[in-house]
Amino acid sequence: MELETIIGLEIHAQIATNSKMFCSCSANAYNAEPNENTCPVCMGFPGQLPVINAEAVRKGAIAAMALQCTIPEYSKFDRKNYFYPDSPKGYQISQFDKPLSEHGKITIRVNGEDKVIGITRLHLEDDAGKLTHVDRGTLCDFNRAGVALMEIVSDPDMRSAAEAAAYAKEIQVIVRYVGASDADMEKGMMRFDASVSLRPKGDTKLYSRAEIKNLNSFKTLEAAIEYEVGRQRKLWEEGKPQDKDITVGWKEEKQATYFMREKEGADDYRYFPEPDLPPLGLSEAILNELRSSLPELPAVRRGRYIRDFALSEADVELLTEDKDLAAYFENTLKVATHDPKKVASFITTVILRFLKEDAKDIDECPVSPEHLGELLNAVESGKISNNMAKGEIFEEMYLKGKSPLEIIKEKGLEQVSDTGEIEKIANEVLAAHSDQVAEYKSGKIKVFGFLVGQVMARMKGRANPGVVNDVVKKLLG
Ligand code: ZN
Ligand code: MN
Repeated sequence: MELETIIGLEIHAQIATNSKMFCSCSANAYNAEPNENTCPVCMGFPGQLPVINAEAVRKGAIAAMALQCTIPEYSKFDRKNYFYPDSPKGYQISQFDKPLSEHGKITIRVNGEDKVIGITRLHLEDDAGKLTHVDRGTLCDFNRAGVALMEIVSDPDMRSAAEAAAYAKEIQVIVRYVGASDADMEKGMMRFDASVSLRPKGDTKLYSRAEIKNLNSFKTLEAAIEYEVGRQRKLWEEGKPQDKDITVGWKEEKQATYFMREKEGADDYRYFPEPDLPPLGLSEAILNELRSSLPELPAVRRGRYIRDFALSEADVELLTEDKDLAAYFENTLKVATHDPKKVASFITTVILRFLKEDAKDIDECPVSPEHLGELLNAVESGKISNNMAKGEIFEEMYLKGKSPLEIIKEKGLEQVSDTGEIEKIANEVLAAHSDQVAEYKSGKIKVFGFLVGQVMARMKGRANPGVVNDVVKKLLG
């Protein structure tokens, strides 16, 4: 039987706010002492009243717009009741039947093909605390309890682990573009739950699924989906497909999923409207203001780069992934007036390599776009060779933050295109290598490269290779 894989993703992303979702505690759990950022509201003390964080709402809404969701006139908050030690309130404040936004979509690209993935909803909620299991018990750190989250739920539109990873990656790029979340997975700011099921190909109904909880990297997302597909495929082949929705976890050491529980439905959570919060309305004026502040989205930028700059798909992908990198590229283009392809290639090969070795982001790059533009212009005008630009000169610019023109002058690196000087050296080289010259004249033209190399070496790489070629050819007759 041919089986088809059905995948839907829930993504939790921490909204980039200074304070928590419903209190004024700092939302920066990173680097804080355990339980430093807590107060009676996020600790669920009786009688304490939550207050909605306006910044979280605005950033949630702008992310929703970027995902092309519709934002209804009002939404509301609900209590999702469950008991677990990471939740001091005994419930999570989430949004149940009236979410902040619904019905969006994004386009992903896998194996050179575009595919639209529907977004069911994006809603707001607060996060739980962090539990650390130790020998004699469990440690609770509530710094993260109450931090603002957006939950982005996809339609079950993905058909492979690769599509799921591409979708997750695109969501990360988009929420970062609009400044809604830093989505740093190493800091737990973005987590995935993947629902996976199989069905006979051609069938349209959905069968029982397994929801894999809390995956925290693209790699584990793919690995866990692959594993789950394999496990369920076996059950189908044995004629006893899974007949209940279940929740599973991922064991990194075993690279396998493990059974946690039968999946709880909405009824199990006893949702009811949060009595301490009013409905959340967003005025047309605020929505318009947010809409007009939307930056150029990654998909639009990619299209523009391909159209206007004729860049390769791989370069476009790389340059647009991070909006700061895209800005760096475009700022360089303001100075470097020639082929954008060369600018792109210099950034994606040389600059990204240097930054990677230093574990730096593009906004920490010691070479300014202006200086890079000047460097590339110097190559284009023949002042310096490309190798020199990539090597010695760029290194110096990177280490000392100096302008390329200054370095070229200081070190006397200006490329020599003056035929007189090159001819003088070339004559010396030919005289010193009469054997090779004789070989060349007897038809072994391969030694030509050797002779050119000797001239280049004597001129310490400063000679214009094109001119050297011409001169040596001429002298050899
Ligand atoms: Zn608090
Ligand atoms: Mn959630």
